[in-house]
Amino acid sequence: MVVILKNNVTEAQIEDIKKHLEDYGFQVHESRGEAKTILGAIGVNPGFDIRKIKILDGVTDVYRVTAPYKMASRNFKEENTIIKIGDVEIGSNEIILMAGPCSVESEDQIFRLAKVVAESGSKVLRGGAFKPRTSPYSFQGLGLEGLQLLSKMRDEHGFSIVSEVRDSTHVDEVIEHADVIQIGAKSMYDHGILKACAKTNKTVLIKRGFGTTLQEFVQAAEFVLSGGNENVLLCERGIRTFETKTRFTLDLCGVAWLKEYTNLPVILDPSHALGYRYGIADLTKACVAMGVDGLLIEVHPNPAVAKSDAAQQLYHDQFRDLMKAIKPVAEAVGRRIV
Ligand code: PEP
Ligand code: MN
Repeated sequence: MVVILKNNVTEAQIEDIKKHLEDYGFQVHESRGEAKTILGAIGVNPGFDIRKIKILDGVTDVYRVTAPYKMASRNFKEENTIIKIGDVEIGSNEIILMAGPCSVESEDQIFRLAKVVAESGSKVLRGGAFKPRTSPYSFQGLGLEGLQLLSKMRDEHGFSIVSEVRDSTHVDEVIEHADVIQIGAKSMYDHGILKACAKTNKTVLIKRGFGTTLQEFVQAAEFVLSGGNENVLLCERGIRTFETKTRFTLDLCGVAWLKEYTNLPVILDPSHALGYRYGIADLTKACVAMGVDGLLIEVHPNPAVAKSDAAQQLYHDQFRDLMKAIKPVAEAVGRRIV
């Protein structure tokens, strides 16, 4: 249920309305926008008579939100959600670049790579320590050691760190070491992970499953939001279609839908979508032109020997060229790459 407050509502009236909602068993989320203040009341109470709230002083209107996602929706909160990571604001006019290798493989690899990412001006380093692989015989990641190497790079360069959680057995370790917790495409239905991430206030980046509808995707985010963590980023990384020449199909139509109907920042991952480095720069330009809030780009000092996603990770030079190429595109649409 959404409760729209009058422009001249007083603090005392807001407190009183909140108290009524809580007494009726709702969990209340307040959203103060420039134009209006809205209270979102979350709770399963289908028979509730909304007139009980409509008559309270300070209330303009009350309506039910029938969408299966509430806190993520623009009905609930019209303004973009802005999430601060270090000193950058995701969801503002900055496009945040999250660059790094698919997997953290060794100290030498991450050390060389961190230098290149830092020189490019990026403030976020991304690398997987717990890798969700399709085959049990593939490299599964360095685990805790990988997280410790990433933490070392944070100390050295002042990065914020993004790293993924593969299953709920190590979610606390990732929460402890990373600034942004990535939930991978194959894990986004894992309620153990979603609920653990809801209990922290660290930012959570949820990747869309490759067979997941937009609604299911936003509902996964809603588990984290409604569980108490409002810092959620949505990441489109390609869906599976009939096409086999590219690894996946980046759903830019879906991105337009997410921007229209949800208030959450949207991050795009051209690397996993295309799956081959030849076209990553062009695809990234298209993403930037669309005005997304962030980018996830895989880069490796020597992709030919990478232990995962070797075909799509950029060489250092390609990454530097990509950075140069996307800056003017960002400026053309009134954004800035950070
Ligand atoms: C990754 O980001 O390296 C990864 C495994 O991605 P996804 O979950 O989108 O497949
Ligand atoms: Mn990868």
